[in-house]
Amino acid sequence: MAHCVTCCTNFFATAWADGYSGSDQEPLLQRDRHGTDERIREFAVGHVLGTGAFSTVRMGIQRSSGERFALKLVDKERSDADAVALEVKMLRRVGMHRHVVGLVDHFELARTWVLVLELVSGGEVFDRICAQGPYSELDAAQILWQVAEALEHMHSVGVAHRDVKPENLLLVDGTDSNTVKLCDFGLSCELDASGKQETARLHGTVAYMAPEYLREEAHGAAVDMWALGVVLYILLSGRHPFDPEGQADDPELATRIKAGEWAFGKHTQDVSDSAREIVRLLLEPSPPSRPTASQLLAHPWLRGAAPTVVLPNSHTNLRAFNQARRILGRVRHRAVTSFVQMFMPLPPPRPPTLQRPMSRGGVKVAD
Ligand code: ADP
Repeated sequence: MAHCVTCCTNFFATAWADGYSGSDQEPLLQRDRHGTDERIREFAVGHVLGTGAFSTVRMGIQRSSGERFALKLVDKERSDADAVALEVKMLRRVGMHRHVVGLVDHFELARTWVLVLELVSGGEVFDRICAQGPYSELDAAQILWQVAEALEHMHSVGVAHRDVKPENLLLVDGTDSNTVKLCDFGLSCELDASGKQETARLHGTVAYMAPEYLREEAHGAAVDMWALGVVLYILLSGRHPFDPEGQADDPELATRIKAGEWAFGKHTQDVSDSAREIVRLLLEPSPPSRPTASQLLAHPWLRGAAPTVVLPNSHTNLRAFNQARRILGRVRHRAVTSFVQMFMPLPPPRPPTLQRPMSRGGVKVAD
């Protein structure tokens, strides 16, 4: 994640100097020589695939099979055992699903927890879609469909993701398959029998947080549907619904989200009524009024009725959004805990896949 790069610089990034060749795993073994390092010897540890708030994710090639995995290396100094155990528990509960990054194995070293994950190497969906040129609502619908399928499955097994955002929507590989996987279960939580989760402390990215989550109320699967609404709005317009000019900081964003201050501005003038309806439903302030993932998947716009005409300037608008979120990432997308600490007193801690290729050829730009 772009917003977390700096906090990981003294983790493996320094142990493996910049010139790390990708084939030598000795530094990890040396650092963890008091731990159970046998397990890591199963893998040739390679280059960095990404960095997160608490981890560095590296390529890992299983020596016995030659199979490639993503090794999520969680620094024990930066995370706690309970958080990692919860992430593992949630990943195991979700299991293998075509639109969720699966957990294959996990083990512990002296200074590190290692999560062996299914490798997804196609990069972020938002980067791919704008690299392919102007795109249509149908293209956006195909992305939304896949994420909604992932959420439908997760919610059905009592897991809320709580961190749905562009950075966590990855493509399986660099081919044209366009299969999306939802990753990073670091903030996911178990839903109780009523489908609700008590909020202990806010974590995540303000820009994608539902109002009830920001208010630290009990929340449930509907927070993921809200975030999906924000993602869809961005796909359709290249703008954030609560910050169309890209100027707001986290406290301002939080205020606007809680006040429900958003509109279909000039950047959405070419968006169809059906797509607007979905955005409006997903951004309903009242969680029960939002569609569930199953209800969303039944909407005709997601079932192939979305317009195929390309949205003018969609790729350039989204590219500009991607650049801005990376440049401003550390400010606008920083963990909300720092925002909460600055502006609010913390409460005491309480105990069948649509596999169509994206439409590209033969479509016309709208007049
Ligand atoms: P954290 O929980 O520490 O924030 P993430 O799970 O978000 O870490 O992973 C950090 C980054 O590593 C992601 O943004 C992504 O770029 C990369 N990454 C994570 N999981 C995988 C994976 N299974 N395959 C390839 N890259 C991954």
